[in-house]
Amino acid sequence: MGVLTEQDEILIKERFNDLLGLCERIIKSDEDRVSIIRAFELANEAHKEMKRKSGEPYIIHPIAVAKIVIQEIGLGTTSVVCALLHDIVEDTDYTLEYIEANFGSKIATIVDGLTKISGVFDKNSSLQAENFRKMLLTLSDDVRVILIKLADRLHNMRTLDALPPHKQIKIAGETIFLYAPLAHRLGLYTIKTELEDLSLKYRHPKIYNDIVARLHDTESNRKKQIEVFSRPIVEILKRNNISFEISGRPKSIYSIYYKMQHKSVPFEEVYDLLAVRIVFDPVGDIPEKTQCWNIYSLITDIYMPKPERIRDWVSTPKANGYEALHVTVMGPSGKWAEVQIRTRRMDDIAERGFAAHWKYKSANQESELDKWLKNIREMLDNPSANAVEFLDEFKLNLFTSEIHVFTPKGQIRTLPKNSTALDFAYDIHSHVGNSAIAAKVNHKLVPLNHVLASGDQVEILTSDKKKTQREWLDYVVSAKAKAAINDSIKAESKNRIELGKQILERKLSEMNLLPSSRIFKKLYPAYDVVSKDELYSKIGTGVINLEDLVKVLKKNTKNKWIRYWELQMTKVIPKKEDGTEEVQTATGEKIDPKTTFLIRESEDGSESNYRLAKCCNPIPGDDIVGHRSANEDVVVIHKSRCPNAVKLVSAHANLLIQAKWTTYKILSFLARISIRGIEKFGIYNQITTVISKELNVNIRAINLSSHDGIFEGTMDLYVHNAKDLNNLLDKLANIKGVEQVARVENLVE
Ligand code: MN
Repeated sequence: MGVLTEQDEILIKERFNDLLGLCERIIKSDEDRVSIIRAFELANEAHKEMKRKSGEPYIIHPIAVAKIVIQEIGLGTTSVVCALLHDIVEDTDYTLEYIEANFGSKIATIVDGLTKISGVFDKNSSLQAENFRKMLLTLSDDVRVILIKLADRLHNMRTLDALPPHKQIKIAGETIFLYAPLAHRLGLYTIKTELEDLSLKYRHPKIYNDIVARLHDTESNRKKQIEVFSRPIVEILKRNNISFEISGRPKSIYSIYYKMQHKSVPFEEVYDLLAVRIVFDPVGDIPEKTQCWNIYSLITDIYMPKPERIRDWVSTPKANGYEALHVTVMGPSGKWAEVQIRTRRMDDIAERGFAAHWKYKSANQESELDKWLKNIREMLDNPSANAVEFLDEFKLNLFTSEIHVFTPKGQIRTLPKNSTALDFAYDIHSHVGNSAIAAKVNHKLVPLNHVLASGDQVEILTSDKKKTQREWLDYVVSAKAKAAINDSIKAESKNRIELGKQILERKLSEMNLLPSSRIFKKLYPAYDVVSKDELYSKIGTGVINLEDLVKVLKKNTKNKWIRYWELQMTKVIPKKEDGTEEVQTATGEKIDPKTTFLIRESEDGSESNYRLAKCCNPIPGDDIVGHRSANEDVVVIHKSRCPNAVKLVSAHANLLIQAKWTTYKILSFLARISIRGIEKFGIYNQITTVISKELNVNIRAINLSSHDGIFEGTMDLYVHNAKDLNNLLDKLANIKGVEQVARVENLVE
């Protein structure tokens, strides 16, 4: 709380007098003047103890907002009064009732709208589709609420320096996401451009400063080029008695950045395109459109036009009311140059947008903008319209190369168009990306390669056990994600090789052996590898387990191919006379063949004394049998009808053991299902939706491909038991278009 100093008082007086001076041209009666002065006096009194972060008296802010409202948006007395009062109800003890009693209901309604928007936005760190909708709801009350809010935001952006960096980023993010497009939509080009530039300044200061510096360096050259290009145009227009102004159109910093980013062109190329604007005063009763085309014709007598680059927004104005004729012609130095042709009225609309539009609007003509506002109101009145869809609708045409999505906590993330859930995960943090297993988009479960759309709310599901996969490179479009995936693959393969090397060396040293070329010569063919790195890497990932190492080393190099499931099930007991020691297992517990073997979840995650056979992949609820390993410390669990189990019974029945599931609440088991059906619109979505609704089922991987209108493939799921899985299979089978769905038992490739 600061008390105003004498200097403060002087500053306030000065600023308000400036404002009053500007108001002269909108003030229509003494009443208007009185209400502006009263609004100032009330605001000054209400905010008298408040300072802005910059140290300035707070009242300087509402005065500045009022100034923008009149000078840059072109609104009238009511809006100036509202701008002066806009922060009172929210930040001081004065109530809306007080304002209504003193300024009437119209002003109270607008101030109320402004207060509500603030409540939705500024106070709350979460900014979501629903909030955006709420904000636009105020459009149905009075569009001035939005315009004053834009002025408020513009002044806050102009004074953003005073805030700490984290707030700068947040406010600049909101500005580029919401306020700049809104300004664009309302036709406020100048404000839109400034909001974009300021936002860039705080979001990417380095880039911003770089572009500013380059613009500065090239300025005189650019001016000269425009001079040369314009000279013949000036002559010919004068000769035709046209009253006009011609100016080089400066490119905004943000638009240069945007083109460099999204079209991947260097600064020189963006900057290279000359652009001039001709604003003329139309004469007589000849339609403005005809006069625009007349100028077009005069210019193209001098310079050759590029026909496919004509933009005729004179015949059909843009949805936000913008009118102009744009042509691109070949300039004297062999460079393309864009010429914008506008009447004074069109220019006013283009620069000041909405307010100017109303000024020029003829009584019976409904402008595009009015239609748009009407549409919005209709949508808002429709109770079934969902906020996300609404946002989509609204944002249509606003962004083409960027999307904005939300984190579960409502933070905005900006991603390149066509970004997937995985891009999003890597945008959050490389760790999140690397451990991602699936995503929820607007609360629906989707695979990681799901393409995101603006307004989506995205949540990433992760698992620490998940490893980065090479295919992921095909899933992402952002450079950030690609780099992170490559890093992770490299790091992982290095780790794997190192781990594999350690494991092998330890095993060999347990046998009193050192790694040697003689040993590798035996290992390569036995494990079907061609290099040390491959061997280490496969050991490191567990593709090769060294349980049969002794056998391999003893055997001739011409080894027989051993089926994977046999490797899984056979345990070799090393022989002592070899100088080696018996293989130790993690669980010292012996297994009693006479009792039923109970499968328990180990609570501490320690290694359990059972393994699930890959050949039939049993899950809790399946009928099972156990097969003891020869040294009785591990039981391999098969389904009782598994053909391998049947074979085992006939071979060594003594090693078979009864087995039973006990609790299985914590652990999920991997199950694979195959699915096949007719490819039709939305079917993948339906499938993932069905799966996501099953609470106890999680997707690990989806591998579907389609050909000739048929899709087929497999999905790997984590389930708790067979009942849950069967439930799910039934539901999937009921989806229209799904022809066949079944559990895949053999996971051995
Ligand atoms: Mn404010």
